[in-house]
Amino acid sequence: MIAARDADVIVVGGGPAGVAAALELRRRGVDRVVILDREPSLGGATRHCMHSPFGMREFGRVYFGGAYGRRLQREAEARGVEIRTGHSVVSLGADGALTVATHRGVETLTARRVVLATGARETPRSARLLPGDRPVGVVTTGTLQAYVAFHGLMPFRRPLIVGSELVSLSALATCLLHGARPVAMIEAAPHTLARAPLDWFPTVAGVPFHTATDIADIRGAGRVEAVEIRRDGRTRPLVCDGVLLTGRFTPESALCLQSPLGVDAGSGGAAVDQDGRTADPNVFAAGNLLRGVESGGWSFREGRAVGAAVADDLAADRDPGAAVPVTYDPPIKLAVPSLLRRGGLPAPAFREFQLRMLRRARGRLSLEIDGRAVWSRHGLWMPERRILVPMPPSAPAAGRVHFRFEEDT
Ligand SMILES: Cc1cc2nc3c(=O)[nH]c(=O)nc-3n(C[C@H](O)[C@H](O)[C@H](O)COP(=O)(O)OP(=O)(O)OC[C@H]3O[C@@H](n4cnc5c(N)ncnc54)[C@H](O)[C@@H]3O)c2cc1C
Repeated sequence: MIAARDADVIVVGGGPAGVAAALELRRRGVDRVVILDREPSLGGATRHCMHSPFGMREFGRVYFGGAYGRRLQREAEARGVEIRTGHSVVSLGADGALTVATHRGVETLTARRVVLATGARETPRSARLLPGDRPVGVVTTGTLQAYVAFHGLMPFRRPLIVGSELVSLSALATCLLHGARPVAMIEAAPHTLARAPLDWFPTVAGVPFHTATDIADIRGAGRVEAVEIRRDGRTRPLVCDGVLLTGRFTPESALCLQSPLGVDAGSGGAAVDQDGRTADPNVFAAGNLLRGVESGGWSFREGRAVGAAVADDLAADRDPGAAVPVTYDPPIKLAVPSLLRRGGLPAPAFREFQLRMLRRARGRLSLEIDGRAVWSRHGLWMPERRILVPMPPSAPAAGRVHFRFEEDT
């Protein structure tokens, strides 16, 4: 057992972000770095992705998800990170103490700093409030891929795919490669959410694709037998044997929610400042926990940057002071970082703000610091697309940082 404060840093979550943070901490000479993950091996969500591309920027070659996860594990072992799989963190105390459940029982672990990197998950049926019967066969992409990768099971042959984010492409590819032929893909928005090639991939693959369409009813006694889809107020039945729910990622923020940290209202994930530091000065966060959802490579780079900040913070060991919230107009959905601290580190982890939109909107997006516009751009802004705005060096010291949006009429 790790004695109190025996670990310098405990990283919760061994996906790309958590592993990258741990590697960077070790590279910078931090002695005892521990990764806790509830799964049997490291890799996070990439473990069940039986497709590429992963790893290009961080390792200079393209991996399939499973191989990339194994590479993360090897890197962590080689760098002397203490890896504890089968460890579920079940609570985060006010003083950063972690309650951890394993097959041996429950223990409390503490460290000088904690990095949360618990990732994100797709919105399941219950949270989407989908009407109808409750048959077997309604799953998310992550669940489907886990069935296929770990158990060699394909839970349906003719599913309906719901959603058009990038992960929907991954869902479609998984079906086609493993013996299922989707009856259709539907998207509730009037346009696809991912960039090309999603626009043409379903059509080329012979799968009908309908925008502005949603589910009015799911039918089935035991298994899914049909779905009623709705477009322009009219419904029609679609015979299928499953419903594959894709995207609409939400940060895996259960630990934040039941701790004093809470969550950011826009992202639903951990609120962090320019160093990746949460409301608790000793607790940091990185990766998809900050917002759903980014790529593996992005999460890795973010984890590495936050790991560097934690190493600097351990060396400086000073109070970073109070945080100022970053505010924004609708339809801006979220900003990362959503806090700024005047007393932050000299080399911040985040040099850009990342924004997302709630819906498609054309207009002028501006960054105002203490009421003065310092950056501005006009354009068509799409939902679920990354928007990056450079963070001026003056931002952390400002009294008010606001993103204004003036929509064209
Ligand atoms: C279906 C699918 C397909 C994808 N395809 C691609 C692709 O082709 N290319 C690409 O670049 N990206 C892809 N991604 C995205 C990529 O997988 C993620 O961006 C990346 O894994 C996020 O890294 P992370 O470290 O933030 O979180 P995760 O990888 O989600 O890791 C989080 C880890 O935290 C652990 N954890 C969570 N809570 C606890 C707890 N309380 N206690 C202990 N451990 C906990 C989990 O077990 C998990 O291992 C895909 C994602 C999905 C779901």
